[in-house]
Amino acid sequence: MIYDAIVIGGGAAGLFCAVTAAKRGKRVLVVEHNSEVGRKILISGGGRCNFTNVNTTADNFVSANPHFCKSALARFTPRDFIDLVERYKIPYYEKKLGQLFCRESSRAIVQMLLDECRRAKVRVETSCSVSSVNAPRPWLIETNKGAFEAEQLVVACGGLSFPKIGASDLGFRIARQFGLKIEPTRPSLVALVSKAHRYPRLAGISLGTVVSAGGPSFRENILFTHKGLSGPAILQASNYWSRSEPIEIDLLPDTSREELASTLRQTRSVASTLGTQMPQRAVNELFFTPYLTKRGSELSEHDRSSLIEAIKKWRVEFQDTEGWDRAEVTRGGVSTSELSSKTMMSKKMNGLYFIGEVVDVTGWLGGYNFQWAWASGYAAGCSI
Ligand SMILES: Cc1cc2nc3c(=O)[nH]c(=O)nc-3n(C[C@H](O)[C@H](O)[C@H](O)COP(=O)(O)OP(=O)(O)OC[C@H]3O[C@@H](n4cnc5c(N)ncnc54)[C@H](O)[C@@H]3O)c2cc1C
Repeated sequence: MIYDAIVIGGGAAGLFCAVTAAKRGKRVLVVEHNSEVGRKILISGGGRCNFTNVNTTADNFVSANPHFCKSALARFTPRDFIDLVERYKIPYYEKKLGQLFCRESSRAIVQMLLDECRRAKVRVETSCSVSSVNAPRPWLIETNKGAFEAEQLVVACGGLSFPKIGASDLGFRIARQFGLKIEPTRPSLVALVSKAHRYPRLAGISLGTVVSAGGPSFRENILFTHKGLSGPAILQASNYWSRSEPIEIDLLPDTSREELASTLRQTRSVASTLGTQMPQRAVNELFFTPYLTKRGSELSEHDRSSLIEAIKKWRVEFQDTEGWDRAEVTRGGVSTSELSSKTMMSKKMNGLYFIGEVVDVTGWLGGYNFQWAWASGYAAGCSI
């Protein structure tokens, strides 16, 4: 039998695309090399899947073309996905900043997608590894379970992060095979490894900060690690970070420079005054000792300014990320210049689609990446 579409990858984007197409009467096969679909969904959000963000806009994504995601996001919104979740009576709640999480378990989302597949008569083949893809049309894929043919081929096999649960480079290999450009990839939404100064004695300490890495600023916590920094603010900044630029961190975002200057002028002990605003251990490790042993009145104007600068604009250089094993997503991917923003179909290869994380569209932390998976899957599913 020749399918209308084969979807490679039974993750968020692939399953949603398959369901969307099958509901329109298309015969769809999903091929997944793991023994079960949706492993990343299962581990996401600490096991509670932050499945969307109600405030999603194109500004929450990074891409060589920041406009590319607009059309798909407009056609399938967070509200559309919430409607589905509510139809399945999956309990959820807003944790913070528009982030919606399952109240019980991520498994409810995977089960919902599988139920949708069953209802729409999508065939799902697990433990099925693709060994080759042969050019159109029909598309012929060879797998350990035999060869399958389809009029259209959807590449939904995700990015490179978390190889231990099945991430592979197949999507990028298929893109290369058909001459599609790929934006350089790197681990993202990931902890960073400091270049010079490390603070192992602060490992585990978390501070409320504002962090910026050349893009927007993020008001969230940073977390000291043995290798550098992590925490939601650093993960967000990792989407924008480049090796050549330090990340800037405001360690006291609720205190203006003027307030800080006035407090520091009056204090009898610089160290203990700062210690009322952040953990004393952090104060002692982060700031230059000669300042800290002084009374405020003993600080020269220059020293006071330097200290305020160090607090309000702490500049940290990082040499690397903590790598694919720790990264929530892949930055970069199949170039958006190769794809139609309405359908996700390749402009060069008729009937070849790329959706989800394999595409050069990377969301912020907070449910945006799943919203992109649903929206891009829906766009392709409507076009098949
Ligand atoms: C620990 C962690 C937590 C996360 N938490 C969140 C969160 O709470 N909210 C959020 O929005 N995003 C989160 N993300 C990101 C989110 O999981 C991804 O952006 C999203 O899953 C991408 O969907 P996708 O369908 O493109 O790829 P995936 O969900 O990765 O699906 C790709 C599928 O393709 C399969 N595959 C790969 N190679 C092959 C092959 N060669 N042959 C056959 N099948 C193949 C994979 O096994 C996988 O099932 C998290 C990521 C991680 C790693």
